[in-house]
Amino acid sequence: MNIAQILKAKGRAVATARPDATLLDIIQKLAQKKIGAVVVVGDKGEVAGIISERDIIRRLGEGGDKALAEPVSQAMTSTVITCTESSTIEEMMEVMTQGRFRHVPVVEDGALVGIVSIGDIVKHHIAEVEMEVMAMRGYFVTG
Ligand code: AMP
Repeated sequence: MNIAQILKAKGRAVATARPDATLLDIIQKLAQKKIGAVVVVGDKGEVAGIISERDIIRRLGEGGDKALAEPVSQAMTSTVITCTESSTIEEMMEVMTQGRFRHVPVVEDGALVGIVSIGDIVKHHIAEVEMEVMAMRGYFVTG
């Protein structure tokens, strides 16, 4: 199964923010949308960074509540690992495990077209394994 199939099931909406949004803006967005990360986009809609709840906790731990007014560009991760719609679930499990992060934006020809979380990957992986088990059972019953 590939990322295109996951996006077909979950949709292509991505929570984004501009680099000058404050950490408080980001916290409010995460809370409203009940998500764990926001993709930071530049003038042309290109991926400029990613900020997750972990970055915010770290920045607040270091800087105290003054950090709430800082621009997200100071706390985000700027080197973002992305995938494409043709990336596979197995590749994403490897990338997320190696990189120790739980979100991967999906980019096609430089444009942000979706995002997958570790929750999406695990859910679809379980469905895939269950389908394989059912197929094997059918094979043994009829074989
Ligand atoms: P997360 O597991 O998504 O909460 O992120 C853990 C850390 O990895 C945070 O510092 C994030 O900014 C960073 N991060 C999250 N997703 C990515 C990604 N796709 N590429 C690079 N860094 C990321």
